[in-house]
Amino acid sequence: MAPLIVLKSVSKAYQPGGPPAVDALTLSVERGEILALLGPSGCGKTTTLRLIIGFEVPDAGRIEIAGRVVAEGRHFVPPEARGVGMVFQDYALFPHLTVAQNIAFGIRNLSPEERARRTQRALRVTEMDGLGDRYPHELSGGQQQRVALARAMAPGYETVLLDEPLSNLDADMRAQLRGQVRRVLKKTARTAILVTHDQDEAFEIADRVGVLNNGRLEQIGPPEEIYHTPATRFVAHFVGAADFLPGAVLREGIRTDLGLFPNPNGIPVGTSVDLMIRPDDVTIVPDPDGSGIITQRLFRGSDNLYALRLTPEIEIHTSQPSTLVLAPGTRVAVKASPSHIVAFPALKSQ
Ligand code: ADP
Ligand code: MG
Repeated sequence: MAPLIVLKSVSKAYQPGGPPAVDALTLSVERGEILALLGPSGCGKTTTLRLIIGFEVPDAGRIEIAGRVVAEGRHFVPPEARGVGMVFQDYALFPHLTVAQNIAFGIRNLSPEERARRTQRALRVTEMDGLGDRYPHELSGGQQQRVALARAMAPGYETVLLDEPLSNLDADMRAQLRGQVRRVLKKTARTAILVTHDQDEAFEIADRVGVLNNGRLEQIGPPEEIYHTPATRFVAHFVGAADFLPGAVLREGIRTDLGLFPNPNGIPVGTSVDLMIRPDDVTIVPDPDGSGIITQRLFRGSDNLYALRLTPEIEIHTSQPSTLVLAPGTRVAVKASPSHIVAFPALKSQ
């Protein structure tokens, strides 16, 4: 089946001739799929959603929804005719309306019976039964977020866009609601694009993740692929911690200060590379003759993150059980067994 949402080389600058907020963005979303667009503040996430729902007009490119072109050149379908719901970052609830009235607001063109039916269903699906008569100020942040979600679902649109839906909540609540957001979207078989700067949120909620940097898509794929085989240094750093170990490509493999690694991608012999190492790839054992010295321990609850100095220039990190406590200055034997070999051309020649 054809994808539900297609963006083809979509660009948008807020000032004519100025820097693009969205730069030649091409992507598609399948029916029923949850796509997360992940990237730092200012990378063009909100602009992308505003282009899809029709609050912004692209400077170039084409947007299709359900097989219909909604923006291309002079052709422009207004938001209310696109059949797309949106959850805004600040929820944008009406303070003087109750929860049920907030939800019903977007479907006020329907008959009172149908409106009541859909409002009840939206409350039920977002696990908000019984809270319809409350006002927004009588709700917790997490409940307000669910009202915003319920309101976006009530019209029954196939597509829902979510702009950093959990970013106003505290860490605890955020973690709790990730599963719920995914559950609600899957239960109602919605197609969704969620944007976030939070890697955990993207990984836990989405089926696929696209990483945005400066308005450009650096990589798109399943969360595991993004994490294990990042296509660029930016992606490697943005999703999880990454260190880079200088290496020389020889016939027998990639030689580094931590030994020889395979070269499954056939990088030409003689190339200088930086091999990506994640903290979970590295093991350490205290050893007076070891090649590493612990420089720092960061206690993170479930684990300890250690910084290790291998040479005066090279520092890497390792994640160890919280029960393994070693003091800075301890010498350790270091072994790296990356689950996937990812190497980028060296930045500086050696
Ligand atoms: P994100 O949601 O990823 O933080 P935005 O899409 O809001 O990013 O912004 C992308 C870029 O466009 C940023 O450089 C931002 O400053 C700029 N921008 C966003 N909205 C406007 C606007 N209304 N007028 C001018 N520049 C804007
Ligand atoms: Mg934004």
